[in-house]
Amino acid sequence: MKPLKIAIQKSGRLNEKSVELLKNCGLSFENYKSSLISPVSNFPLEILFLRDDDIPEYVQDGIADLGIVGENVILETKVEVSYLQRLGFGKCTLKIALPNNSEVENLSQLQGKSIATSYPVILDKFLKENNIQADIRTISGSVEISPGLGLSDAIFDIVSTGGTLKSNGLKPFADVISSEAVLIGRKGEENNEHVLELIQRIQSVLRAKETKYVVLNVPQHCLDQILKLLPGVKSPSVIPLAESGWVAVHTVIPERDFWNKISELKAAGAQGIVVMPIEKIIL
Ligand code: ATP
Ligand code: ZN
Repeated sequence: MKPLKIAIQKSGRLNEKSVELLKNCGLSFENYKSSLISPVSNFPLEILFLRDDDIPEYVQDGIADLGIVGENVILETKVEVSYLQRLGFGKCTLKIALPNNSEVENLSQLQGKSIATSYPVILDKFLKENNIQADIRTISGSVEISPGLGLSDAIFDIVSTGGTLKSNGLKPFADVISSEAVLIGRKGEENNEHVLELIQRIQSVLRAKETKYVVLNVPQHCLDQILKLLPGVKSPSVIPLAESGWVAVHTVIPERDFWNKISELKAAGAQGIVVMPIEKIIL
């Protein structure tokens, strides 16, 4: 049977995390930087290494069946593809930013201004939705220097920490979209058995990332209170210890309220708490 093809970024911000995710799904392949294509030895899949900008169209046109790319790139290229899974990395926000001394104070004051960007499609949509007519100046790189050079009154670009804006005398003004890496697929291929298998593997890796495996020693008389604090996949396991009057409780805890939960458990009498990463959670 013909292997599926998945397109990922060849080098850049999404490359390393995309490779890591596929390897965590148990896929075995060489991460050749020099070649365009790498076969997976233990799954009917080939990996195509491409520039991120080309990925949505390759998937739409069926040159690749799947792709991992930032949502910003998909929205900008206006392609018809299926969103299969958000991946939780490559997070960023696309913002309009102004020079520190700009007199613009609200969105409507962008009327008639010029805005430099590499994302004209996304910006145009936002401006139309807000009934603003502005002059979009499309440039391909270093958008942030254009106000300083007198080329535009504002910019629209990806901002993560804001450091680049600051060093160019700019301030964030309006958030337009937030973006993260997503798994996309060719329309009509969503139910392919290998696509479904891959999505399931990816979901089990993502679920595992969000949780920790925790073992705690608990005096028997504190057990009821400790169990009330624990959510778990089902109920936690409770195992007697060699020392009488004590049990070990095994459970999983969501990463997001991890430290709060640990403090509550300690306060309720838990001791010797051991925390372990989880590789996969298969439901
Ligand atoms: P390529 O050579 O593949 O065209 P690129 O230079 O266009 O790469 P990168 O800078 O590697 O792209 O960014 C890839 C994606 O990473 C972006 O499209 C965006 O989705 C995401 N991203 C996350 N944080 C940032 C950031 N701070 N700046 C730019 N992109 C970011
Ligand atoms: Zn690119």
